[in-house]
Amino acid sequence: KTSWMARLKAGLAKTSNNLSLLFVGARIDEDLYEELEAALLMSDAGMDATQYLLDNLRRKVKEDKLLDPAAVKNALKELMIDLLRTLEKPLELGRHEPLVMMIAGVNGAGKTTSIGKLARHMQTYEQSVLLAAGDTFRAAAREQLMVWGQRNNVTVISQASGDPAAVAFDAVQSGKARGMDVVMVDTAGRLPTQLHLMEELKKIKRVIGKGMEGAPHEVLLVIDGNTGQNALAQVKAFDDALQLTGLIITKLDGTAKGGVLAAIARTRPVPVYFIGVGEKLEDLQPFKAEEFVEALLG
Ligand code: GDP
Repeated sequence: KTSWMARLKAGLAKTSNNLSLLFVGARIDEDLYEELEAALLMSDAGMDATQYLLDNLRRKVKEDKLLDPAAVKNALKELMIDLLRTLEKPLELGRHEPLVMMIAGVNGAGKTTSIGKLARHMQTYEQSVLLAAGDTFRAAAREQLMVWGQRNNVTVISQASGDPAAVAFDAVQSGKARGMDVVMVDTAGRLPTQLHLMEELKKIKRVIGKGMEGAPHEVLLVIDGNTGQNALAQVKAFDDALQLTGLIITKLDGTAKGGVLAAIARTRPVPVYFIGVGEKLEDLQPFKAEEFVEALLG
């Protein structure tokens, strides 16, 4: 636990330093609130979440007559935990046979890496996993997934050519026939500018539903934690099109600012199932608001 928390802390260090420094020897006055506002906006929290946090902080400081900067910082921490806790939700396994998941995300967000990590996570819970290589556009992506599947004992369904919706449909049929616990359907990454290709994703989702009633049970979006406010735009666009059930936020070990989770919580609260804190298979962690805020404001 220490090592990934250390990486998360290092990743969020910029925001953490910016916020923490404000409280050192500070007077609780208008200047402090203004500086806090700037720091929160810089952290990608966005206008709405920033106002929400500051309004509540002012109220709390007044009600509890807080004078000590450390106590004010603590109050902010608690408000942040309460806000982010609305995004906390564990991914429940074993509810369906199989549990069918569809995974989307723009190119480079960390989708392939996260699917690998997720498969590993599920295997540790003794879940058998079948993967559908829905990225039929990039041969290299498909091959990469096949190789990875062999190495990790995960069956990968793939078709050299054709319709990603057909691959998804086959995978669901195959998953049912083989009695798999989980079927994960990978989809081709979109460029952030190609959000109109959303129609194809909608079709994949529809076709999965024809293969199994009520499926997909989970529709996940993988987003890069470094993309700031753009991450929020992605959540909105994909949620409008696909009715997301969860998010995976990657690369929080890098140079992420972290505030975007507050923006998501306030404006489009899709649960965050996992966070990515590194490139290795074990670097996927269930999202816990308290741990995250500890890294952000500890
Ligand atoms: P895709 O295009 O969305 O499938 O993205 P990839 O899975 O290929 O990932 C793009 C790059 O980001 C790769 O170099 C990954 O190793 C890296 N990456 C993915 N997740 C994380 C993470 O949580 N932390 C770090 N540091 N790198 C990550």
